[in-house]
Amino acid sequence: MSSKLTFRIGGIHPCDNKISRDCAIEVLPLPEVVYVSMAQHLGAPAAPVVAVGDKVLAGQVIAEPAGFISAFVHSPVSGTVKSIAPRADIAGRMVNHIEIVREGDEWAEGIDLSTDLVTEIPADRQFCLDRIKNNGVVGLGGATFPTHVKLNPAPGSKAECLIINGAECEPYLTSDYRIMLERTKEIIVGAAIMQSVLGGCRCVIGIEENKPAAIKAMRAALAELPYEGIKVQVLKKRYPQGGEKQLIDAVMRRQVASGALPISVGAVVQNMATALAVYEAVQKNRPLVTNVLTVTGDCLPVSAQHNYLFRIGMPLSYIAQVAGGVPEGAAKIISGGPMMGKAISNLDAATVKGSSSILYLSEEATRRKPESECIRCGRCADACPMGLEPFLLRRLTEAGDMQGLEAASVQDCIECGCCLYSCPANIPLLDHIRLSKGQVMGIIRARAAAAKAAQAANNQK
Ligand code: SF4
Ligand code: SF4
Repeated sequence: MSSKLTFRIGGIHPCDNKISRDCAIEVLPLPEVVYVSMAQHLGAPAAPVVAVGDKVLAGQVIAEPAGFISAFVHSPVSGTVKSIAPRADIAGRMVNHIEIVREGDEWAEGIDLSTDLVTEIPADRQFCLDRIKNNGVVGLGGATFPTHVKLNPAPGSKAECLIINGAECEPYLTSDYRIMLERTKEIIVGAAIMQSVLGGCRCVIGIEENKPAAIKAMRAALAELPYEGIKVQVLKKRYPQGGEKQLIDAVMRRQVASGALPISVGAVVQNMATALAVYEAVQKNRPLVTNVLTVTGDCLPVSAQHNYLFRIGMPLSYIAQVAGGVPEGAAKIISGGPMMGKAISNLDAATVKGSSSILYLSEEATRRKPESECIRCGRCADACPMGLEPFLLRRLTEAGDMQGLEAASVQDCIECGCCLYSCPANIPLLDHIRLSKGQVMGIIRARAAAAKAAQAANNQK
């Protein structure tokens, strides 16, 4: 095994709790009704192109991108559109959803549902980009940024390294691990497609050392496939290894500057599940209407843990019910991992392309110890992977000092929670920082918009 890489600043080592790692992917039965969100991606919500009463097929376009940063949305089932109306998402925000009453599972024409592996990469770059765009592929590592945009850097920018993120460093989550084991070759073909679209740069598949079976499977599959310039790199187990900037530092030893994109240092980072979605979009013309989600938690017995293949639009409550119901000891339900995931305020919310888990945590796992005075130990700053000073950010937040917060780079916080995890005084640092980060980002955006408007006015003179 080659030497293990990791990022250079901060980080922590929480217990990984991958209790569901040996649970093979199971296909969820289809529900009677799905609710498909129009805001499944970063950027402008998609605009519906169907009307109430329309019959739709699985894989049919039901909403179009409503801007440059936006994405197509497809029906996950065949049936009839019952309503198009706002509905609460996981965080409780009202978002437009298309409700479809299922009448079967008939797919639109031109979609290859076979499991035959297609390894030949289309030579036409634009064909690949169009398939990725038209099939609604977005980043599935958390940000849900439209993938065709990320794979098409602006003129003057050049990708030197495509990094496939197999860190899955959040405790509990195992969906990426399972697809690495069960869809290994498809992921590698997806990586090779992206490598080709980016002009043939090198490709590094980064996997944390706590997944030896996935490392072995990926290396074995790579040896059987005809691609060049792709390698598997073992990463040290360290949180947040899967952060985009941390992964670039680990693999390329380059730092992305504040406010800059990874492409500024020649990097493009894509998640494992995104590589699989790219494979299905390009080689099978299959829209992104499925993904894998982990049902896990410390209050679930091993026998009740699952990795499920779900279709977008399935209500979380439906999945929870199929999995055996909400466990009695669950004090908190989270979508995503325990470090960066979001508390689910509404279990009737529908799954989206980027859904990765239903995580049940017990009272014991979520109990906050009493907060005490800051003892100025500096552990929060030592743990911060962005080189920030969380104790200072908290003080500036309390003082409402927006200028000071911007100067202290609160906008660079990736909300990883390492500071909170490390603080012996149990100060809810992330709560403070998240609040002020939102305010400072608003100020920065307003300033950029005003500068753009002033520039436009000047150009008209
Ligand atoms: S949450 Fe923000 S401030 Fe705290 S450690 Fe992570 S990046 Fe640093
Ligand atoms: S870790 Fe907690 S106690 Fe130590 S300096 Fe940071 S905020 Fe203060």
